[in-house]
Amino acid sequence: MLRLPSFTYRQPRSVREALDAKRDAGPRGMYVAGGTDLYPNMKRRQQEPQTVISLMGIPELRAVGRSGGQGDSGVTLGACVTLTELTACPPVRQTAPAVVAAAAAVSTPLLRNMGTLGGNLCLDTRCNYYDQSYEWRKAIDFCMKKDGAICWVAPSSPRCWAVSSSDIAPVAVAIGAELLLVGPGGERVVPAARFYENDGINYLSKQPDEMLVEVRLPAPDGWDAVYAKLRRRGSFDFPVLGVAAWVRWDGRRVAEARVVLGGVASRPQEVPEAAAALAGTTLAADAIAAAAEAAYRPAKPLDNTDFDLSWRKQMTRVYVTRALEELGRRRAG
Ligand SMILES: Cc1cc2nc3c(=O)[nH]c(=O)nc-3n(C[C@H](O)[C@H](O)[C@H](O)COP(=O)(O)OP(=O)(O)OC[C@H]3O[C@@H](n4cnc5c(N)ncnc54)[C@H](O)[C@@H]3O)c2cc1C
Ligand code: SF4
Repeated sequence: MLRLPSFTYRQPRSVREALDAKRDAGPRGMYVAGGTDLYPNMKRRQQEPQTVISLMGIPELRAVGRSGGQGDSGVTLGACVTLTELTACPPVRQTAPAVVAAAAAVSTPLLRNMGTLGGNLCLDTRCNYYDQSYEWRKAIDFCMKKDGAICWVAPSSPRCWAVSSSDIAPVAVAIGAELLLVGPGGERVVPAARFYENDGINYLSKQPDEMLVEVRLPAPDGWDAVYAKLRRRGSFDFPVLGVAAWVRWDGRRVAEARVVLGGVASRPQEVPEAAAALAGTTLAADAIAAAAEAAYRPAKPLDNTDFDLSWRKQMTRVYVTRALEELGRRRAG
């Protein structure tokens, strides 16, 4: 049985107290929300904080609100809103059903009861050579992401290619969500697209002391979005491919589009060529085929997650097509 190592557990009641706890803990301190990612990682010694600072007792991180006044306003979600709360939340269901779909596709009901929106957006990157027990990793002399020197996926590579495996991250990027970060130096708001780095080790632009406090979903002013997920077991697994597609409609035509892929790179990967293939069209079959082809080309899955990688690449075409067809059906219906 895998056991947690011993660690100091802190339960701050405010953002200020949490920042102070993190400062006191130094680089060996980590924030935790639901713990469904961090605690398994600690059991496997992938992450080894000496101090774990729980954010779940901070009321403002559990809050849901409207931004921008009455009517067609956006929604603000505290980072510690659980995925179960999120999927049941009327303002989110109304404003951003794609976020609800992505959250509902995360793992199992038990994990969604504990796992949070913020934890999902900050989820550690994943790899077949990393998401293993300590003994397994020791047997291969570890890897660059933790305790080792080499990347087993690409041995001559100077970087880690572990994969962004969050379901909500590609949707957050596609719909243009904004994230409120609070750190020792104050607050800043970053678009979700700028929250991620294409590096399996340093996969967030967030500083280690910074806390994700709030996620801002934009007002529903003429846009629609969908999320399609490929995984081995529909009841349970991480995405091996996630497709988030967003369009802003101008009548029956696409004024603007975004296609973002999850599970193919160390960050949610936007494909501007696919978006360009959709702009000005009515999402007819030829435009969808052109966008799917454009998304297929830059999608370069590596041999570091489930399924055969060339099959996963083929599936990019299929899932982008499905996502865009769904958007077209919703417009027509
Ligand atoms: C069996 C299993 C299946 C899973 N399947 C899926 C899946 O299909 N899709 C998917 O997306 N995920 C999946 N997960 C991962 C995880 O359950 C979810 O992503 C969950 O939403 C993580 O949220 P959490 O609150 O538990 O994160 P935690 O474990 O609490 O934290 C995750 C990371 O985020 C950091 N963090 C958390 N909150 C904040 C914050 N507010 N500010 C700064 N840093 C923060 C933590 O320090 C940690 O590094 C699975 C996990 C397991 C164990
Ligand atoms: S991509 Fe390479 S360095 Fe990164 S976790 Fe996998 S094997 Fe390790």
